[in-house]
Amino acid sequence: MTRTGPDGIRATVDRATRERALHRLAERRYDVLVVGGGVTGAGVALDAASRGLRTALVERVDLAAGTSRWSSKLVHGGLRYLAKGDLPIAWESAHERHALTTAIAPHLIRPLATIVPLDDNTGPWMGALTETGIRLADLLRVGSRTPRTVLPPPLRVSAEAALLHAPGLRREGLRGGIVYWDAALEDDARLVVALARTAAAYGADIVTHCSASQLTDTTAMLTDELTGATLSVQAAVVVNATGVWAGEHEPSVRIRPSRGSHLVVRSAALGEPRAMMTAPVPGHFGRFVFAVPHPDGLVHIGLTDEPADGVDGLAPEVPEADETFLLETMSLALERPITSADVVGRFAGLRPLVASAKDSQDTADASRVHLLVDDPGLPVSIIGGKLTTYRRMAQDTVDAVCRRLTIARPCRTASLPLVGAADPATLRHVPAPARLVRRYGTEAPQVAALADRFGPWLADPVAPGCPTLGVELLHGVLAEGAFTVDDLLTRRTRVSMVEADLAPAIPVAERVLALGATIPTRLAREVTARHTVGA
Ligand SMILES: Cc1cc2nc3c(=O)[nH]c(=O)nc-3n(C[C@H](O)[C@H](O)[C@H](O)COP(=O)(O)OP(=O)(O)OC[C@H]3O[C@@H](n4cnc5c(N)ncnc54)[C@H](O)[C@@H]3O)c2cc1C
Repeated sequence: MTRTGPDGIRATVDRATRERALHRLAERRYDVLVVGGGVTGAGVALDAASRGLRTALVERVDLAAGTSRWSSKLVHGGLRYLAKGDLPIAWESAHERHALTTAIAPHLIRPLATIVPLDDNTGPWMGALTETGIRLADLLRVGSRTPRTVLPPPLRVSAEAALLHAPGLRREGLRGGIVYWDAALEDDARLVVALARTAAAYGADIVTHCSASQLTDTTAMLTDELTGATLSVQAAVVVNATGVWAGEHEPSVRIRPSRGSHLVVRSAALGEPRAMMTAPVPGHFGRFVFAVPHPDGLVHIGLTDEPADGVDGLAPEVPEADETFLLETMSLALERPITSADVVGRFAGLRPLVASAKDSQDTADASRVHLLVDDPGLPVSIIGGKLTTYRRMAQDTVDAVCRRLTIARPCRTASLPLVGAADPATLRHVPAPARLVRRYGTEAPQVAALADRFGPWLADPVAPGCPTLGVELLHGVLAEGAFTVDDLLTRRTRVSMVEADLAPAIPVAERVLALGATIPTRLAREVTARHTVGA
C-alpha cells in the first residue's frame, strides 16, 4: 500500500520543500516550532505532525549533525538498567525496542548477538550472576511481547560455540559463554532522516541549515545559514530539542557534556566476529569495553566516558588517551591484541549530562533519564534520554505542548511506520541488493534504479572498496534534504567512518550535487517518491 500523509505531501525533503517552508515560516503561525534536528527533535516533529499539529522543525546544520550520529547504534532492551536496579527505565527501553523493531523501523534494525565469555576473568559465581541478570532481562522481552523470532532468548554455550560467534576471543581459560540478543541500528543518522521525512509526509516543514536564536515560549529568530537571511517566527509553542546546546535556551539547565569515543576497525582484525564482544574494564565492576560488528565488515569499539566541557558537540576529536584505553582494554579479551595500526576510523559524541541550576546537587545522568522542562515564558525543553527512547521523549514533549495549547490529541507514534518500513517477510522480497534494503527498506529499488535513469556511474562505489554507491548520494539530494558534500558523506551515508574513503569520495559527491541541481523537482519526485509512509 502506498499512502501519503494527511495533506498529501510525500515523504520528501528537498530544496523546494525548504524554500516553501521558509516562506511559510515568515507568514504563518505554527502550532509547534521544534529547534534541533537530532533524533529527539525529529521524533517530536513526527509526533506533533501526526497528531495534526502545524509543525516546523529547524536545524542549524543538518539532520543528525550532533550526538545522534555518534551513538553506539544499540537499541537497548534494558539489561544495563536492570543491572543498576532501575526497573522503570529498563521496562521503558524494552517497550521502545519492541515498537522500533516490530513496527516503526524494522528495516533499519537487526538482531545483535552478544557473547559474554566465561573465562578466568569470570569465576563460576560471577558467571551464574551474569546469567541470572541476562535471563531476567529476557523477561522484559517476553513482557513487552517481542517474539523470539525477532530476538531469540539467551543461551549458555560451550567454548567451541563461543568461538564460532567470536573467533577472535582469547582462548586461554575459556570454558564457554553466554549469548544474548539485543537490537542494533544499521545507522543512527538514517533513523533521524527517516523520522524527519515521515514527519514531512504528515505535513511538518523541515528546514535544515537554519539556526534559531532568542528563543521564547512562542517566538524565535531564524538565520538561513545558506543565504544569511534572518526572519522572526511565531509558534503557539517553541520546543528546545538542541541536545548538548539545550542550556543556551533554558536558564534552569546546566549541561555537563561527557565524551564517548569509538574506534572503527576492519572485522578481520578481530577474527570476523558475528556477535558483540565485551571486555571488562579492570578495577571497575560492571563496566565494559565492547566491539559491535556491523554488516559492512567494520567493527565499532567503544566506549569512553570523559568530561568534555567546552568541546564542540558536532564532531568531537578522539584523544590519544581514549584510543589507547579502548585498544588496551579490548585486547584483554582477544587472542591477538589490536593496535593503532588496525584502526581505520574514529568518532566521538557528547552525552548531554544535566546538572540542574535550580539545585546544583541535583544531577541526573541524562544519557539515560530524560528531562522535560516546562517553565512558563520559556520553550518546552527536552534533554538527555537515549536514542532508544526518543519516541517516548517525543510523546512526553508533545503531551506538554498539548497541555499548553489546552487541547487533547492522542499520540499515534507507537505503531506508526517510518518511510521505508515493512515487516521482515515483505523486506525479504524487496527486489534490491540486501545492503540497500537494510538502509532504505521498501525504497531500495527506487534508489538502485537512479543509476538506470541518470547514469551507470552512479551504480559504482564512491571510493575503491567502499560499500556506499553513487545512487545513495543522489537519493540523498533528491529526497532526503542533503545540500552539501558533508551532508552526503557524513550523514546520509557514513563514508567518512573509514578515514581513507573520504578524500576519493569528495569529487563524486560534488558531481552528484551538480547533477542533482539539473534535475527538475517534478522529475525528482517522480523517481524517488513512489513509496511513501506506510509503503
Ligand atoms: C558516545 C555515545 C554513544 C551513545 N550510544 C547510544 C546507544 O547505543 N543507544 C542509545 O539508545 N543511545 C545512545 N546514546 C545516546 C543518544 O545518542 C543521544 O541520547 C541522542 O542522540 C541525543 O539526541 P538529541 O536529538 O537530543 O541531540 P543531538 O543529536 O545532539 O541533536 C541536537 C541538534 O540540535 C541542533 N541545534 C543546536 N542548536 C541549535 C540552534 N540554535 N538552532 C537550530 N538547531 C540547533 C544541533 O545541530 C543538533 O543537530 C549515545 C550517546 C553518546 C554520546
